[in-house]
Amino acid sequence: MEKIKMTTPLVEMDGDEMTRILWQMIKDELILPFVDLKTEYYDLGLPYRDKTSDQVTVDSANATKKYGVAVKCATITPNVQRMSEYNLHEMWKSPNGTIRAMLDGTVFRTPITIPSIHPAVKFWKKPITIARHAYGDVYRDVELQVNEPGVAKLVFEGESGKKEEVVVHEFKGPGVLMGQHNLDKSIRSFAHSCFQYALSVKQTIWFATKDTISKKYDGRFKAIFEEVFQEYKERFEAAGIEYFYTLIDDAVARVMRSEGGFIWACKNYDGDVMSDMVSTAFGSLAMMTSVLVSPDGKYEYEAAHGTVTRHYYKYLKGEETSTNPMATIFAWSGAFRKRGELDNLPELVNYADQLEAACFDTLNEGLVTKDLVNLMEGITPKALTSLEFLRAIRERLATRLGA
Ligand code: NAP
Ligand code: MG
Repeated sequence: MEKIKMTTPLVEMDGDEMTRILWQMIKDELILPFVDLKTEYYDLGLPYRDKTSDQVTVDSANATKKYGVAVKCATITPNVQRMSEYNLHEMWKSPNGTIRAMLDGTVFRTPITIPSIHPAVKFWKKPITIARHAYGDVYRDVELQVNEPGVAKLVFEGESGKKEEVVVHEFKGPGVLMGQHNLDKSIRSFAHSCFQYALSVKQTIWFATKDTISKKYDGRFKAIFEEVFQEYKERFEAAGIEYFYTLIDDAVARVMRSEGGFIWACKNYDGDVMSDMVSTAFGSLAMMTSVLVSPDGKYEYEAAHGTVTRHYYKYLKGEETSTNPMATIFAWSGAFRKRGELDNLPELVNYADQLEAACFDTLNEGLVTKDLVNLMEGITPKALTSLEFLRAIRERLATRLGA
């Protein structure tokens, strides 16, 4: 078989620990035999981030802005313990945080579902994707605890000299208060990323706030979404998808009774809470994919899980591991599909489809990694090592591609 051609490189962001090992295995077993791979490589492994004073992370984000599609391996976010483990010069910031800030992006998390793993919610037939707004609200709040009677006020002093003041509460005794903010610019970026992504995957998107109670604050979110949607309306109609707005409590009730198969855009706190609920209900963190989408339609694909440290230490001791590569493989397939669509390369899109189908073939035959064994029903699973699992996928992929 002739290898599948690419025209534009993917931005490849390598990472740490067990996922770095899987990264190379995936390339060797599932990509390089079939694709004439073109990437611009950035090593975001912690040693090289430290060596370059984290410049490599910034460079990789700039490359993503330039080329439009990146695929990222999980990376260590340093803490005190990592400082000594890796002899670091500084406690470098989370690469994901840096990249997200530079792209002004929103993260979309989607579970990979298979028939033998039943979601905890019996109505759910298709994945639910959660998009979380990543700026402001309670995460950037200021708070006070007051211990005597007094008046709390919200004051705005405009640069123009205009002053606005409202009484928050007249305290008769001790209590607590909080100030929150958000920015039109950030909400607008969030809305653009949401509508871009919905079009990209051709799925209906829901958004919900509590604007009946919070008329100005949440009302602003609703209004900006409605305004931004006007730019997308025609493309949504052409794609046969919808933008659906409702109250957050109504959304939660509808989500529970839905079949899935849509995107749920959430304010920061709702997304924090609901993404944990939805991902747990779908089964396994190892089966959760994640895409960062910028308001102008740049994409960075990755797994939602971390570097799987415990498995890496086993690997270093020479022990066999059974680490699930699904989310990392789907990061690659997502990136290839997007690159293929942008560059008009149907063979590359087909490769992405077949790669995912080969993964499903393998799992549906009961060949799995250890983490899935106890989740499967109606099938007797066989646990394979990391490499055996990848080779089983490779065999099925080769058959599908006629290679
Ligand atoms: P983690 O790497 O996701 O692993 C937590 C546990 O979940 C693992 O020990 C393992 O359980 C299970 N697990 C996760 N992914 C799996 C897979 N693919 N296959 C099988 N089991 C899997 O989270 P963590 O231990 O909290 O963090 C480890 C490092 O990752 C940290 O340095 C953190 O900074 C980093 N991190 C990076 C990202 C990112 O780059 N996006 C995200 C999160 C965390 P068992 O051990 O029970 O088998
Ligand atoms: Mg959370």
